[in-house]
Amino acid sequence: MKFTVRPSRFPSPLKASLLTSKSNYPRLYSLFHNHQARPLYDRPLSSRHELEDQVPWLASQPLHQLSLADLVKHGRPPLSAEALLSSARFTLSLLPIRLAHRIQALRSLPYIVVSNPNISRIYNNYQHSLSTLLPWQGKTISTLDDEIKFTQVLAELVQTHTDTIPILAKGFIECRKYISSAEVTRFLDEHLRARIGTRLVAEQHIALHYSSTPHFDPEASPTPCPEPETHPSYIGVIDTALRPANVIDSCGGFVADICELNYGVRPEWVVDGAPDASFAFVPMHLEYIVTELLKNAFRATVENGMSREPVVITIAPEPASSPASAATPGVYSDCPSKPSNGGKAKAHEIIPLHDHAPGVTIRIRDRGGGINPDVLPEIWGYSFTTFNEGEDEPPGAGAWGEEAMGLISTTGVGGSTIAGLGYGLPLSRAYAEYFGGGIAVQSLYGWGTDVYLRLKGVGKIEY
Ligand code: ADP
Ligand code: MG
Repeated sequence: MKFTVRPSRFPSPLKASLLTSKSNYPRLYSLFHNHQARPLYDRPLSSRHELEDQVPWLASQPLHQLSLADLVKHGRPPLSAEALLSSARFTLSLLPIRLAHRIQALRSLPYIVVSNPNISRIYNNYQHSLSTLLPWQGKTISTLDDEIKFTQVLAELVQTHTDTIPILAKGFIECRKYISSAEVTRFLDEHLRARIGTRLVAEQHIALHYSSTPHFDPEASPTPCPEPETHPSYIGVIDTALRPANVIDSCGGFVADICELNYGVRPEWVVDGAPDASFAFVPMHLEYIVTELLKNAFRATVENGMSREPVVITIAPEPASSPASAATPGVYSDCPSKPSNGGKAKAHEIIPLHDHAPGVTIRIRDRGGGINPDVLPEIWGYSFTTFNEGEDEPPGAGAWGEEAMGLISTTGVGGSTIAGLGYGLPLSRAYAEYFGGGIAVQSLYGWGTDVYLRLKGVGKIEY
């Protein structure tokens, strides 16, 4: 079958979904950040009943342990129509269960917490998203038309959840009286890690969908939409030859701009070690982590009056022969600090990545005065921040501006403020651990901080 999908047939929500890629569509992305899902009580009674019936059943189904092999197996270039359809079916087999698990987790929070307008907005978003997938349950996605419609639904789903984190953060701060911080941490750790996986599954299919539109039929559509930039090293949202040095430089420029706005000072940074190293990883995740770690390093440097001292970022590729690299690469885990199960790869075919490291460690060294030992045990807690300390504003006030809510960051977190949400470290750690990496902070109080970011690449890509 000749595989022709015309980009111009994609309605705007689908294009909006691609705006989740900040690097490709920074401006357009921001146009869509205000979307809010329709609350469930606005919907017909029948769909509410269907949802009520389905949630407990779906939530009782086990979560599929997603591996990187799962993500790449449908994306082998050149992508056939059958592979695209099977990617859509695979995505559909995972998402309703994942959403139902989140709905159940939200329902098990104390009632007064779920009634908070911010938390209930998130709850409604999940219910809304599940209700858009339910009509697909039991159907087989067997034509490209189905696939286009399904991808539209995914695009809306990704868009609906863009702003989740600042909204949840605000909600939990407002509910501080009714729920202990340990309970909040437990909930958020699980919820936000699960969210990483859900977005990844949806975005992977959307990206594969777009990478499968090489033919344009001018007769059917005389005015083509501009096609998304194509990257030969990408398989969906995974870059098989990602250079951390490039990500560091682009995120460094962005964070330096924020510093200039906040403090009138533009800190500098130097990349050393092996700047040419590359590995296979999800660029959106690396962008998120590096942006948050650089915000912390730059902020500390400026506030410590050391702006003349550059932040030094050392890239150390993992040697191909190291014992760590011999292990099968990362397997998704919904739960914090759960050991990876070693990824049972179905090794039919392997793309050798000889030139790319199996993983990298990135050390970010600043002269920002380090972290007070009194607060050191707290820095991994959600909402813990020393930003705006001693001022009248509530904790986190720096991050609540409209502009900051979901704008800029592909993950809908953090936005353009330098600090204040207190989610930078714990969420960066969740992203790093997602594929088997980690983050360690070493503070030399009175001098500066070293942050070690260890990331495991895809290694060999196995189909
Ligand atoms: P936020 O940046 O919003 O405060 P984070 O989770 O990123 O939240 O960091 C939590 C706290 O950890 C910061 O408020 C700061 O006190 C401390 N911290 C993190 N990184 C550094 C650093 N490089 N130097 C000094 N303090 C740091
Ligand atoms: Mg921070």
